[in-house]
Amino acid sequence: MAKRQFKAESKRLLDLMINSIYTNKEIFLRELISNASDAMDKLYYKSLTDNISGLSRGDFAIELAVDEDAGTLTISDNGIGMTKEELADNLGTIAKSGSGLFKEGTGDEKAAEDIDIIGQFGVGFYSAFMVAQKVDVLTKAYGDDQAWLWSSTGVDGYTIKEAEKEGHGTTITITMKADTEDEDYSKYLKEYELKHLVKRYSDYIRYPIKMECTNRKLKEGTENEYEDVKEVETLNTMSPLWKKQKSEVSDEEYANFYKDTFHDYNDPILTIRSSTEGAATYTALLFVPGKAPMNFYSKEFEAGLKLYASGVMIMENCKDLLPEHFRFVRGLVDSEDLSLNISREMLQHTRQLKIIAKNLEKKIKAELLKL
Ligand code: ADP
Repeated sequence: MAKRQFKAESKRLLDLMINSIYTNKEIFLRELISNASDAMDKLYYKSLTDNISGLSRGDFAIELAVDEDAGTLTISDNGIGMTKEELADNLGTIAKSGSGLFKEGTGDEKAAEDIDIIGQFGVGFYSAFMVAQKVDVLTKAYGDDQAWLWSSTGVDGYTIKEAEKEGHGTTITITMKADTEDEDYSKYLKEYELKHLVKRYSDYIRYPIKMECTNRKLKEGTENEYEDVKEVETLNTMSPLWKKQKSEVSDEEYANFYKDTFHDYNDPILTIRSSTEGAATYTALLFVPGKAPMNFYSKEFEAGLKLYASGVMIMENCKDLLPEHFRFVRGLVDSEDLSLNISREMLQHTRQLKIIAKNLEKKIKAELLKL
């Protein structure tokens, strides 16, 4: 089967990922988990707007599985999946926001700058190549009968072929690189390490992240004999960070959340958390970035806040929540007053949204003055 080539910018990014001396290789896991979570959000949202029955939010889950002998880690979701075209489009090209920026570079930047780039953009899926010698993506789009398998060992391209898969969603299998003197890749096949990484970066993901774990337990009917018992555990607490009491969340957790969600590698200089009940009931979690994003002055920069209705994301960039002069602020708003299947056009005219926007403007101004 003919190998397809990656788009030029993707090729360069991949090259960086593969040969990266970027120290934070472990972030590949949170990137893939975030993608899985987004895919389930998309399907859930679709089920509400298209009135699809039979899909329940409680059925969505992310599963991690390890095969130490084969040297593989799989990350599965039962989200919206991808069609053949989407596979080629989404995984053959780097995210639009990133590719434009890549073109602005001179093409011969030094390695140090390249590493900066890795940290600054939502390179997402490609980060898998920091740890993988091979990546397989088995996926079936919701409503499609045919599944597809995308495979790549790196810059020399990828293949897509017909495959079998039960149910919709995506299963990503990473074949880990062999350990080297400087780099321990096999740790990503260890239960302990995976648990730790999920807790660290993906604890708030609102779908369960499940994994079969081995626990030493007292053998039944004995007093001091132990045995290994395999049990499926949910590794994350699933409570969104912004719903927790301020005092329960450390600055580091807020900063990690910010960096993960908004693809920045600098800490924010200001974190604002605000909850209000009354004319509008909402929680807002806002961040002032430490550094303006590289595309801030270009057309590609998308201002706005993520908008959630009772914990479900309904809009990625809601522009109406921020005045133009605060467009550098990143963050999210979660409100119980908004209906889940409200259309985008209607949303613009929602009274609650206007009240929230007004409150936020005041709040941001006050916090900036304090700073
Ligand atoms: P980003 O998530 O920033 O858009 P990625 O490179 O991580 O960039 O992913 C590119 C695209 O591939 C995503 O926007 C999404 O459309 C698709 N994708 C990635 N992972 C999944 C998945 N698990 N299920 C469905 N689609 C996915």
